[in-house]
Amino acid sequence: NYDLSQYDQFIQTFEKVIKTPKQTNTTTYYTGVDLGTACVVLAVLDDSGEPVAGAYEYADVVRDGMVVDYIGAIEIVTRLKKSIEANLGCELLYAASAIPPGTDLLDSGAIKNVIEASGFELVSLLDEPTAANQLLSIQNGAVVDIGGGTTGISVVVEGEVVKVADEATGGTHFSLVVSGSYGMTFDEAELYKRSEKNHKELLTVLKPVIEKIASIIDRQIMGHQVEEVYLVGGTACLTGMETIIEKSLGIPTFKPINPMFVTPLGIAKNC
Ligand code: ATP
Repeated sequence: NYDLSQYDQFIQTFEKVIKTPKQTNTTTYYTGVDLGTACVVLAVLDDSGEPVAGAYEYADVVRDGMVVDYIGAIEIVTRLKKSIEANLGCELLYAASAIPPGTDLLDSGAIKNVIEASGFELVSLLDEPTAANQLLSIQNGAVVDIGGGTTGISVVVEGEVVKVADEATGGTHFSLVVSGSYGMTFDEAELYKRSEKNHKELLTVLKPVIEKIASIIDRQIMGHQVEEVYLVGGTACLTGMETIIEKSLGIPTFKPINPMFVTPLGIAKNC
């Protein structure tokens, strides 16, 4: 089986430097900017590719990969950039970003403008599943990115992404189900869902939506020899969902220690 431990270490280092940035002698930093439906994440690497700082903020500036609040997006990226710069005592110049598969023609201009208006030079833009695989380096399998608004599926054969697809089911739908089942507002449900202590109980409530995601994966990988599935994206943080997906698909399913940071770190690695 594929060994996720080295990536888990990398992600754990990133989690640490979000809390306490690492001072280095590097003068050039590389920033991955992930503009998501639910969350904007900045991941900063030094010139040896090690995580040195990071920041994230829940936001409502992007929907299904499209920037819907352009000014709000610039404000958040600028705010996160400035706070990291203050901690590192150095300006962040270069950034990479990513877009959900299939949205490039429509939205890559808007993403580029947000990054540049926030004071970065955009040096690369790639699709999210390819970005995730920059970190995971999977040779054969499917990378499934379960985000806020959508689930992105990419099939990797001999290290190359041969198929990408994006479908409109993600963490927002999970929160809507929690809201309906518990009589909570959407915002309350969102917070309740993110708390790990509620995950065991929520797994029963959310099983039908998780199975729907499994059926989306099943349909998208049809015709490909997929022997392993890797879950990334914030929604994959839900403890135990990998077991339901593995059972539904009949394919071994893995997830890294914090699936939410795989794509931002993969983007940063591509900078
Ligand atoms: P998209 O990829 O659809 O544009 P995004 O990049 O914002 O969205 P992510 O940051 O990967 O998506 O994931 C956001 C989703 O993950 C949200 O729905 C959020 O509620 C969910 N999420 C984050 N942390 C947790 C957690 N600990 N447990 C369960 N769900 C979580």
